[in-house]
Amino acid sequence: MLQDKDRIFTNIYGRFDKSLKGAMSRGAWDGTKGIIDKGRDWIINEMKASGLRGRGGAGFPTGLKWSFMPKVSDGRPSYLVVNADESEPGTCKDREILRNDPHTLVEGCLIAGFAMGAIAAYIYVRGEFIREREALQRAIDEAYEAGLIGKGNKNGYDFDVYVHHGAGAYICGEETALLESLEGKKGQPRLKPPFPANMGLYGCPTTVNNVESIAVAPTILRRGAAWFSSIGRPNNVGTKLFMLVGHVNTPCTVEEEMGISFRELVEKHGGGIRGGWDNLLAVIPGGASCPVIRGEDMGDAIMDFDGMREKKSSFGTAAVIIMDKSTDIVKAIARLSYFFKHESCGQCTPCREGTGWMWRVMERLVVGQAQKREIDMLLDVTKQVEGHTICALGDAAAWPIQGLIRNFRPEIERRIDEFSRNAHQTQPLMAAE
Ligand code: SF4
Repeated sequence: MLQDKDRIFTNIYGRFDKSLKGAMSRGAWDGTKGIIDKGRDWIINEMKASGLRGRGGAGFPTGLKWSFMPKVSDGRPSYLVVNADESEPGTCKDREILRNDPHTLVEGCLIAGFAMGAIAAYIYVRGEFIREREALQRAIDEAYEAGLIGKGNKNGYDFDVYVHHGAGAYICGEETALLESLEGKKGQPRLKPPFPANMGLYGCPTTVNNVESIAVAPTILRRGAAWFSSIGRPNNVGTKLFMLVGHVNTPCTVEEEMGISFRELVEKHGGGIRGGWDNLLAVIPGGASCPVIRGEDMGDAIMDFDGMREKKSSFGTAAVIIMDKSTDIVKAIARLSYFFKHESCGQCTPCREGTGWMWRVMERLVVGQAQKREIDMLLDVTKQVEGHTICALGDAAAWPIQGLIRNFRPEIERRIDEFSRNAHQTQPLMAAE
């Protein structure tokens, strides 16, 4: 279990002073100039050595991503873009950073921006996050007034930080759709390549990082890569904001060490499963797009990237959605199918048509109004969508259904049997009428 001294986020619940003064008293902006004075290469190497993997869901090594930015400018400016769109159902961690500990992010923007030679950071905030945007803007204004960012600042690297407020489309959390939206266009993902590091915002080299990935950087650089990488297990290191969502006794967002067991996480922070462990039905471990896992398979689960892969799911954003036996699991997944259908941007046919098709079949499976062979047909369609689209929304729509069929097929078949039984029973009645 993570000790208090190893916590990066010291005000995640907003209990303390959020202002610059309060943040500084807890260690923010301490020795920032010293870190910058060590140079770009030192920072990137330290971030690589820390083993930090992106906290937005994909888990790509952060230091490596920064190193893709051009070392020498060809005349175009470089940009850092921070993805604060946080729209994955179940995920509620970046908003806590934005509204309660925003200086971790503002300081992180300066350091990360310096490391990649960027002239400015754009923070793209989810449309619904009104108070979060206000809190973030306050922190940025304070940092400007104190001469910590901006032209001729005390830290020795001219750098601007801008906040952009989105309009609430899930797809704008996809990095290239986010860039399109930032440029004032419709938020539709771009084909890759070219990758943003070559051609991103306004056609310039850009790195898009998640809020948490940037916000943890200053502490990692202050305390050293060795400290960060000593927490967790190889390939899955550091601390992480976990979210316990759904049927636990005390849902919460909590910073914990990577590799904590599911049982410990739920017992220590979630107050246990509602109705006890025997009442656990299913878990979606990393936000709505991850395959669902049966509750009985989660007892020994290790909560990190590799641990969740072993369970044929994905760690995602660590938004752990816990469902007890009161849940209609087929209906729950059908609801997610509706969400992805609704949020598809419609550019590619497999996603535009496939998400609607999958949702309609799912709706019938909820009541059992289907034939059993349609289960495999549905599975086949998820495979046709998966990997055949411009962005990962197609995969995100396919995986929850695949997880459902893999783990809860008997329940789907039971409903089909029940529906046909009821239909047979009512038929003679209807005939008699
Ligand atoms: Fe748009 Fe879906 Fe294609 Fe992504 S996969 S680009 S959301 S249509």
